[in-house]
Amino acid sequence: MAIKVAKFGGSSLADANQFKKVKNIIEADDERRFIVASAPGKRSADDIKVTDMLYDCYEKAIEDEDFDENFAKVKERYNGIINDLGIDLSLDEDFEKIKSSFFAMAGRDYAASRGEYLNSKILAKYLGFDFIDAAKYIFFNDRGEFDWEKTKSKLRPKLENMEGKAVIPGFYGSMPNGTIKTFSRGGSDITGSIVARACHADLYENWTDVSGFMIADPRVIKDSKPIKTITYTELRELAYMGAGVLHEDAIFPVRSAGIPINIRNTNIPDDPGTMIVSDTAEKSEYIITGIAGKRGMSVINIEKDKMNSEVGFGRNVLRALEKSEVSFEHMPSGVDTMSVVIQSDNLKGHENEIMDEIKSRVHPDQLYIENDLALITVVGRGMKSARGTAGILFKALADARVNVKMIDQGSSELNIIVGVAEEDFDIAMKAIYDAFIK
Ligand code: ASP
Repeated sequence: MAIKVAKFGGSSLADANQFKKVKNIIEADDERRFIVASAPGKRSADDIKVTDMLYDCYEKAIEDEDFDENFAKVKERYNGIINDLGIDLSLDEDFEKIKSSFFAMAGRDYAASRGEYLNSKILAKYLGFDFIDAAKYIFFNDRGEFDWEKTKSKLRPKLENMEGKAVIPGFYGSMPNGTIKTFSRGGSDITGSIVARACHADLYENWTDVSGFMIADPRVIKDSKPIKTITYTELRELAYMGAGVLHEDAIFPVRSAGIPINIRNTNIPDDPGTMIVSDTAEKSEYIITGIAGKRGMSVINIEKDKMNSEVGFGRNVLRALEKSEVSFEHMPSGVDTMSVVIQSDNLKGHENEIMDEIKSRVHPDQLYIENDLALITVVGRGMKSARGTAGILFKALADARVNVKMIDQGSSELNIIVGVAEEDFDIAMKAIYDAFIK
């Protein structure tokens, strides 16, 4: 039988009502064998995530302040879920142990990790599944990096030899000295991906509170259609679009094993969501898969006659950036021109030193900075074979009277990046969306 790993995020497990939806989802498909759980998230916009409550408690513990009141609220969250579900479980012993570990300075990561630990215990009991403590099966090395080899050697046999089903807390694992370490925020997504790879899952389902990725940011394109299928590579190109839905690092474990990820909505379980698949995926629904944009960009424009025949020109320009420790996003160039696109926040305060350094290194004819630029990345595996994609794109922008200040196309033909004035951003996004998505 196929194996599915299902990860449920904080909003999917925020209260008893959400737990019930999760149970229905899990029980609807016998292949959902390994469940990865987050800590209880927000129940409403002004609620506080249990993870944040735990960080606060621990801050107080470090400062030697009384954290009883804060900790009582954490207990209340869990006991509320247990009571509302009507299950026979007491976490009192765990609460006592956690409290004394706080006094013993068990670490900030330990504190935060208890959010998923306790929630997973409740979920395991509610489902009648085994509970597997991630501390015994997910490992980091001495440098604090995730250690796949060690994890695989312990986690894979454990899962392979299991008859039944299990719940595994997300977000944390152990250091070589046995202390608890967490991934960065939102890291339960990474645990889910690791578990999927360890058990050779056929599918990694990531259940959250949206029905997958939208083709364009719904704050700009209100009725944006969802993306049905996206490849791992396309998702990387659209990196700043996925933010908030899936942790950036969650794709790597499953990607190398060719396991697809399905983003699903716990509140609308019938929605198919978005499938993230390997790069050999068949054709996409539209020529383009997604559009992502970013405001707040600056460009350093450099012009010099015969730049193209000057050996080391580009390196010298980049050296100037390197010296000020400023990274760049893109570097489109012409025969006698070169533009370096940089996030304005990164450039701020370094403008003069970088300009002086470029001047002394390459003696340009013209050198100037343009601010208030936005970049729009149009990504699609369908663009490779489709003639005229750039034509449609630039006609749409011209018809919308948007001036294109910069164009960059990767040789993979997977993306086209255009730079426009920030004030044209919304109009440009809409023009591109309407031209491709019917
Ligand atoms: N609970 C953790 C956080 O809030 C991890 C997660 O939910 O993925 O960041």
